[in-house]
Amino acid sequence: LIEARDVELAFGETPALRGASLAAGAGEVLAVMGPSGSGKSTLLHCLAGILVPDRGEVLFDGKRIDTLDENRRSALRRDRFGFVFQFGQLVPELTAEENIALPLLLSGVRRAAALADARPWFARLGLDGLERRRSGELSGGQAQRVALARGLVTRPRVLFADEPTGALDSLTGEQVMELMVAAARDQGTTVVLVTHEPRVAAYADREAVVRDGRARTLSTGHPAGSAPAGRVAS
Ligand code: ATP
Ligand code: MG
Repeated sequence: LIEARDVELAFGETPALRGASLAAGAGEVLAVMGPSGSGKSTLLHCLAGILVPDRGEVLFDGKRIDTLDENRRSALRRDRFGFVFQFGQLVPELTAEENIALPLLLSGVRRAAALADARPWFARLGLDGLERRRSGELSGGQAQRVALARGLVTRPRVLFADEPTGALDSLTGEQVMELMVAAARDQGTTVVLVTHEPRVAAYADREAVVRDGRARTLSTGHPAGSAPAGRVAS
């Protein structure tokens, strides 16, 4: 579904990617591991059409997206992709439900409809009662679950998650990860997940390792759907 082929990218003199190839199929959860500075985030940004590689190709649904202009890539990000980052990047003055509804509002969905679509996420992610709470007043784990709902509320084809549990303690992180994988599987969303934690990578169908700007993909031994992700009710 989403694929990088021989992608190279340098920041000035610093080569970040030196011929990285990586692919995730429809509905697949792919964990991207590797040391700090190896190029994981850069590769994720190339796949998501945030950065344009110097060389190589990025394909979504079999079509190149690295050759599209910024307007078309930004429309693709809005309409087909979802994002979750290490620090949720919620708008602190907005309520939890407004934050979840935000991508829908930005796509032109009316406020009432957007808030209605946001609502089921509260029960699904164990956030009941927090709908009207300003997101600046949520705990780290709650905020990250809100960020996760915001990443999935548009029912994206691909969810890009860069260290989504990096700022949480390991138990909370694992719970958020379980919820993320279960919710994504539920709606058939492909997940590209950058993480340092092998425990988190265990939720993935496949694992890629990035080293010195090159990627290698391994099987985790979990065929799609068999990773320990099914416990969470949706
Ligand atoms: P981490 O695990 O620490 O997040 P990473 O694997 O995500 O690391 P990248 O952020 O992709 O690594 O960085 C790859 C290389 O590119 C590093 O050498 C980094 O210093 C460099 N780099 C990343 N972003 C920029 C930037 N905006 N400007 C200049 N250099 C950058
Ligand atoms: Mg990174």
